[in-house]
Amino acid sequence: MSEDRFETLAIHAGQDPDPATGAAVVPIYATSTYVQSAPGDHKGYEYSRTDNPTRTALQTQIAALEGVALGSPGGCITAASGLAATSLIGHLLKPGDHLVLSNDAYGGTFRLFDSVLSNYGIQWSAADLTTDAGLTNALRPETKLVWVETPTNPLLRVVDISRVAATAKEHGAMVTVDNTFATPYFQQPLDLGADLVLHSSTKYLGGHSDAVGGAIVMRSESLYERLKFMQNALGPVPGPFDAYLFLRGIKTLAVRMDRHASNAALIAAFLEADPRVDRVWYPGLESHPQHDVARKQMSGFGGMVSFIPKGGVDAANSTVQRTRLFFLAESLGGVESLIEVPASMTHMSVEGTDLEVPVDLVRLSVGIEHVDDLISDLDRALG
Ligand SMILES: *Cc1c(COP(=O)(O)O)cnc(C)c1O
Repeated sequence: MSEDRFETLAIHAGQDPDPATGAAVVPIYATSTYVQSAPGDHKGYEYSRTDNPTRTALQTQIAALEGVALGSPGGCITAASGLAATSLIGHLLKPGDHLVLSNDAYGGTFRLFDSVLSNYGIQWSAADLTTDAGLTNALRPETKLVWVETPTNPLLRVVDISRVAATAKEHGAMVTVDNTFATPYFQQPLDLGADLVLHSSTKYLGGHSDAVGGAIVMRSESLYERLKFMQNALGPVPGPFDAYLFLRGIKTLAVRMDRHASNAALIAAFLEADPRVDRVWYPGLESHPQHDVARKQMSGFGGMVSFIPKGGVDAANSTVQRTRLFFLAESLGGVESLIEVPASMTHMSVEGTDLEVPVDLVRLSVGIEHVDDLISDLDRALG
């Protein structure tokens, strides 16, 4: 058991000096195969779909940050994208099984269950998991999995993880928490009763908008073994170059998240006080509908802020085209600030459904530039 704290684990877990050379940084093991001294006699590595030392280091690092120390049951499985990781979890289900999806889960998560896994007899329904009734009404005898995302995208709704986990456990269903927005620095779902934690490492874990990847973390050894089998059997593994980029990015996760969150809090307060703005969503604001739950289960409120400027969709569209520092782009979680209009850029598929987002909603991924520069940029852009 390691006694090291989060910041230390980010830099040291899985990252001992290279035994062959003493290299202080985990090398990029660009090899598909490993030489054996006799058939079956190898150093733990045979073929890089199954295992690669750069990937192993990354998995040890992410597991440690989600509270699964090296040598304790469970661990981390990385994948080629967040959706590849979601797909590995989806393959734990069998025909006839049912899952409950948070009603504003990531669009790609919906698409995977709705348009792909449903072809294999896996049923799903969407539910508002911010209320008790939302979950209990959606549970069926065949429900095997509850899929929570918190905070959600783009309305930053917050779901009480321990409450959902307790209800699901009573029902015999597992709980996955998509922890992409909060990161383990601000939220530890396994401690709150979740069985699986999912990441799109593409976002804050990588943190530099330069790689696509995913991860799953769990404390159950049997789930770990099943997902490790899926990783090898289905094959959506990250290459060693990407694993290196994530290892490098995660070293600074704690300092980046502190700055993302302090910048986001100041920007949310600026927007909330501005007469040109109609409404602001940020879990750290007292006006946020689930602010109390956020305070209870998160140690910080993250770097995502959404708002509606006065003046409708025209105001939203012109604001996002007038910023200089906030780049108009999809995705989130990098050091650079991004701005977008979800209804016309990332959330077209939910138009006309319960999940529809306001057409004039603007979403910010607040970066780690100087906050005064970011506020001036928004001030100018609001016109
Ligand atoms: C981006 C994202 C995903 C999907 O991850 P990819 O790396 O793009 O495949 C899943 N969940 C959330 C919350 C995301 O933001």
